[in-house]
Amino acid sequence: TKSEGRNSYQFYSIEMHARAVYGQMLESHLLQALERGELDLHYQPQVSLSGQEVVGVEALMRWTSPALGKVPPDKFIPLAEESELILRLGEWALRTACRQAKAWQEAGLEGLRMAVNVSGRQFRQPGFAELVSGILAETGLAPRCLEIELTESCLVDNPREVQTILHRLRYLGIQVAVDDFGTGYSSLSYLKLFPLDRIKIDRSFVRDIDNDPDDAAIASAIIAMAHSLGMQVIAEGVETQSQLDFLGGRGCEEVQGFLYSRPLPAAELTGFLHDRRPQ
Ligand code: C2E
Ligand code: CA
Ligand code: CA
Ligand code: CA
Repeated sequence: TKSEGRNSYQFYSIEMHARAVYGQMLESHLLQALERGELDLHYQPQVSLSGQEVVGVEALMRWTSPALGKVPPDKFIPLAEESELILRLGEWALRTACRQAKAWQEAGLEGLRMAVNVSGRQFRQPGFAELVSGILAETGLAPRCLEIELTESCLVDNPREVQTILHRLRYLGIQVAVDDFGTGYSSLSYLKLFPLDRIKIDRSFVRDIDNDPDDAAIASAIIAMAHSLGMQVIAEGVETQSQLDFLGGRGCEEVQGFLYSRPLPAAELTGFLHDRRPQ
């Protein structure tokens, strides 16, 4: 009826309003989060299937706001990406992660790779390669130990421009991984255009890999394609031994997921890293 229609419209608009207010509140707090030291990085191990050793870690941002509590990155990263704020958050994450990687190496974890998420806007900012090389020089981290993770959608936007930036990064000696691979519904032709080191199979294909023949087929195809193009493969979101066995059986080189460890603060991960390193 008419009145129900009006009610649901009203409900909808109140909800929309609440969401907008929450968004503005997040934004104003996020602006200060960096200066007030409310941001932190957690690290999740990346394990090689051949040796069951930790070969790298992925840095994941965490925000604990005194007013809003723990805000998940899925909420605040997209918000930061709407403005230049992501450039500052991203630079902070790169610098903090490189510093931590250097500290771990000095503590005997040589060759450990540090993977850092980089958003499209950050990647395309003028002088991104120079920023990265400055941070490497400042922290003393060897370039081959830094990997940046770029999403598929960030790569396909403007292939020419992307190609130029990727070649600059390759020249510096850092590694590049394609994150969330398979979720972008994009053409695959860009893969041969770009110098890429690694593909990350998205968690959504790994989750039901044991039961869903389609997901199993997609994961197998991604691995085969990556290998034939000279890239390595890492699977994210691995939670069970049978997922691990499937991926290992298909030649996937590395995995990351709760099966080994959740993302943890640096201090908590240090012991785990020392126990699981090549001798
Ligand atoms: P992502 O890059 O795809 O990161 C993987 C996400 O999967 C992380 O969520 C991680 O905690 C979660 N995860 C890892 N293993 C498992 C597992 O076995 N099972 C399940 N269910 N989840 C697992 P998180 O930390 O909440 O981060 C969410 C997203 O926020 C990231 O997705 C990334 O897109 C973004 N993000 C986080 N930190 C940064 C950053 O420093 N810069 C940028 N640009 N984005 C970031
Ligand atoms: Ca990632
Ligand atoms: Ca991912
Ligand atoms: Ca994801």
